[in-house]
Amino acid sequence: MISDRRAFLKMVAAGSVAFAEPCRLAAAALRNKVRITDVKCMIVRGTWDWNLVKVETDSGLYGIGEAYWGPGIKDLILRELKPAIIGEDPLNVDKLYTWMLMRSAGAGAIGGQTVSAASGVEIALWDLAGKILGTPVCNLLGGRFRDRVRFYRTLQLPHGNIADPVAWRDQVAEARAEKWGWTAFKFQGNGIPPALDPQFKEPGHDRFTRNLTAKDIREIVTAMDTVRDSLGPDIPFAIDFHWAYDLHDAIALGKALEHLNLMWMEDPLPPENPEPMAILARSTSTPICTGENLYGFQGFRRLIEAQACAGVHIDIPKSGGLLESKRISDFADAYYIFTAAHNPASPVGTTASAHAAAAMRGFRIHELANWIDWWPDLVMRDGPFWQDGYFTIQDKPGLGIEINPDVAKAHLMPGETWWG
Ligand SMILES: [Mg+2]
Repeated sequence: MISDRRAFLKMVAAGSVAFAEPCRLAAAALRNKVRITDVKCMIVRGTWDWNLVKVETDSGLYGIGEAYWGPGIKDLILRELKPAIIGEDPLNVDKLYTWMLMRSAGAGAIGGQTVSAASGVEIALWDLAGKILGTPVCNLLGGRFRDRVRFYRTLQLPHGNIADPVAWRDQVAEARAEKWGWTAFKFQGNGIPPALDPQFKEPGHDRFTRNLTAKDIREIVTAMDTVRDSLGPDIPFAIDFHWAYDLHDAIALGKALEHLNLMWMEDPLPPENPEPMAILARSTSTPICTGENLYGFQGFRRLIEAQACAGVHIDIPKSGGLLESKRISDFADAYYIFTAAHNPASPVGTTASAHAAAAMRGFRIHELANWIDWWPDLVMRDGPFWQDGYFTIQDKPGLGIEINPDVAKAHLMPGETWWG
């Protein structure tokens, strides 16, 4: 045995000599640090106005990312965040993310557009780090718990008369027929009744009141009974309520939906106050999932500590990027609260978000919201985006995707230029 061990150690020693030269060269390359030379942003008009980000370096390597959609993000990136990271080593991702928030808001931005803008840059830094180190981004976040990330498909309100069960059945049939093989879905609940529509004059409703009448609950349950009937008993689905109700009515609604065994009831209450959300969560067996309007670890902390939901719904390119979202997810997991990902992003933000999801122990399912035909074509990637409803993490450096210039240029927001 001892001689076996000696032989083994000799073999390792010989191997380490063989590895010494490449290791020395890699170390030398890392000592000659890559430096950030530019940060660029362009807005592509997809399902929303996607804010795409590029971080360039003096090595010729660059990273791409995406910040949550919406106006103002590009200005923040170019005017406030870019000066904070020019000349820096892109491998110090956490430091650069922290400094971007500190520099733009004194003690550090805690929410809103600045955090979303920094999230987009943070994602581009991870892509770049992966390219420099020659490894997929998920490996830099602790490695993957899973090679495939399950997605759910979100549908908007069906066209036509939503009081007609046929509209819902048709929508379910269409979604199930999509070639990606979805195994879970989300439907819209708070458009029934359309309380935000100024034309909606039914007593008990105006644009601001959070009232949910007995008739409203009946109509929601009737529509969702049709969805359950169309999907069968075993296919999971969630319902999104877009922060529309007050506590008492949300409890009544949650109870009225219990027989449907929902994947979750999403955002029945406004997002800011975890105490009523905790009361709701204890009042019904319908799982509550919330969080797409919260920012960063501190934004989620009280919600998780109060055990106010079954799942946190993190928008990763909005809420702090990949590492901050992993922190949130790991904290939620300590309370046995699952993580899901909210996602209206382009394939860039979606791919990044899926890498983070692969590295989160408690991750359950990822969203794909509104769809347009050229969505997958915006990036070049080997193979289909999804198979059997799962996104596969590829063994390629960084995020493993590149933006297709022809497709991006064809859909730039008016006034935008290619990385202009
Ligand atoms: Mg939602």
